[in-house]
Amino acid sequence: MKTMTCKELGGQCDQELSAESWDEMVKVMTKHVMEKHPDVAKEMEKMHKQDPQKWGKEMKPKWNAAPDL
Ligand SMILES: [Zn+2]
Repeated sequence: MKTMTCKELGGQCDQELSAESWDEMVKVMTKHVMEKHPDVAKEMEKMHKQDPQKWGKEMKPKWNAAPDL
C-alpha cells in the first residue's frame, strides 16, 4: 500500500490517496479530481488527448519512489 498526496499527482490539495498498485492509484486520483477539482480534471483530460502517456510518465516515478507501507 502506498500513499501519495493529490498535489504530488498534479492536483491542488493535500488530500492523501492510497492504493495497492499504480493502476489503482490512477483510478483513485481520477475519481478524486473529478469530484474535487473539475478544473484539474479538464486539464488532465486535455493533456491525455494530446499525449496519453504524459501524465503517467511524469507521475509514475513518484509512485515508484513512494515508500511501500
Ligand atoms: Zn485534491
